[in-house]
Amino acid sequence: KPMEGRISDIGPRHFTEFLPPVIAKNFGKWDYHEILEPGLLCHTGVSGDKAYTVRCGTARLMTVTHIREICDIADKFCGGFLRFTTRNNIEFILESLDEAKELMKFLEAQKFEGGSYKFPVGGTGAGVTNIVHTQGWVHCHTPATDASGTVKATMDAVFDDFKEMKLPAPVRISMACCLNMCGAVHCSDIAILGIHRKPPIIDHKYLDNLCEIPLAVAACPTGAVRPSKVEIDGETYKTVAIKEERCMFCGNCYTMCPSLPLSDGEGDGIAIMVGGKISNRLTKPAFSKVVVPFVPNEPPRWPTMTKVIKKILDTYAAEANKYERLGDWANRIGWERFFEKCDLEFSAHLIDDFRDPAYYTWRQTSQFKW
Ligand code: SF4
Ligand code: SF4
Repeated sequence: KPMEGRISDIGPRHFTEFLPPVIAKNFGKWDYHEILEPGLLCHTGVSGDKAYTVRCGTARLMTVTHIREICDIADKFCGGFLRFTTRNNIEFILESLDEAKELMKFLEAQKFEGGSYKFPVGGTGAGVTNIVHTQGWVHCHTPATDASGTVKATMDAVFDDFKEMKLPAPVRISMACCLNMCGAVHCSDIAILGIHRKPPIIDHKYLDNLCEIPLAVAACPTGAVRPSKVEIDGETYKTVAIKEERCMFCGNCYTMCPSLPLSDGEGDGIAIMVGGKISNRLTKPAFSKVVVPFVPNEPPRWPTMTKVIKKILDTYAAEANKYERLGDWANRIGWERFFEKCDLEFSAHLIDDFRDPAYYTWRQTSQFKW
C-alpha cells in the first residue's frame, strides 16, 4: 500500500512491502538479539516474538539461474523472504528454530561439482564474514586487479574462520579494485586495494575525437592534466599532456576519457591495508592503514596476497585480547610490533603526507619509530 506522502509509482517498490510477517509485526520493536551458533541469529521482540536468521555466504556476481535457485530455497523454507547483506551474505528469515535448523542442514548439503559448498552457513560474530567487493576485471573500466578472483582466493584461505567464531572479535575483509574504492577498504579490518603504478597512456591520435578535453582536464584531482597539441606524421592533434610527477594513478581521467587508459600488466597490483572499522564499540571508528604497499597480480590464486592476509589473521587470532578488533590490537602492541609479528617489511611507501587531521595516519605521533 502507498506510504503516506510518498510518490509510489517512481522507482522500486517500498521495502516495507517485502518484509517477512514477523519483521513487519515487530518493526522497530526489537528487544535484543543473540548468535545461537555460527550462521544462526535470533532476534527477540518486545512482544516475545522471535525471528531466526540463517546466514550463508555466496558469490556477489551471480547468474540468473543461481538467483532463481536461491529464490526457490526461500520459497520452500521461509515463504519466499530473503535478504542480501552489504557483505553479500544471503539471510533467510524464519519463525521457528526447528525450521531454521532444517534450512541450515539443507544449505550445508548443497555442493558444487567437486564437493565445495554452494551455500556455506556462517559469517556471524567473531569470525570472518563474506567480503564486500567491487567489479574487477569482469566489469569495470579502471580496475588494477580482479575482484572475484582475489576474493575467492582470500575466502578459501580464511574459510575456517567463516564457519567458526573463534577469533577475538569480528574481522571484516573488503576489496576494491582501484582507489576509486567502490568497496569499504578505508574502514575494514583487512583490505585488499587494487593500485595502478603508472600514469595513463595517451592516445594522441584519437583523444580529441573520443573525449571532451575540458572534462578530462577537470577530472584530475591533482591538476596533472592540461590541454596540449602534438604533431604526428606532419599532422597536428589536439590532445592533453600529463605531468607525471603529479599523477597518483587514480584513473579518474580515464573515466572521462577512454583515450587515457592506465591498466598495465606490470604496474598494476594490490596494496593491503589493515586496522579500519566502522563500529564504535569500545573504541572509536578508524581508517585502515596501508601495511603492504604492493603485491603483484598473480591470478588465478594470488598466492602472495593470501599468504600475507593469512599471516596477519593468524597472528591477530593468536595474540589479540578477546573483543579486541585487529586495529585495536595493533594500536595496543604498537604498529612497529605489528609489522614484526606479521613478518611485514616497513618502507617509506607506507608513510603518507596528508596534513588534514581526517587523514592522519603514521605521522600523527612522534612515537612512531621508523
Ligand atoms: Fe571500478 Fe574502481 Fe569501483 Fe573497481 S573500485 S569497480 S575499478 S571504480
Ligand atoms: Fe590525474 Fe588520476 Fe589521471 Fe593521474 S590518473 S592524470 S592523477 S586523473
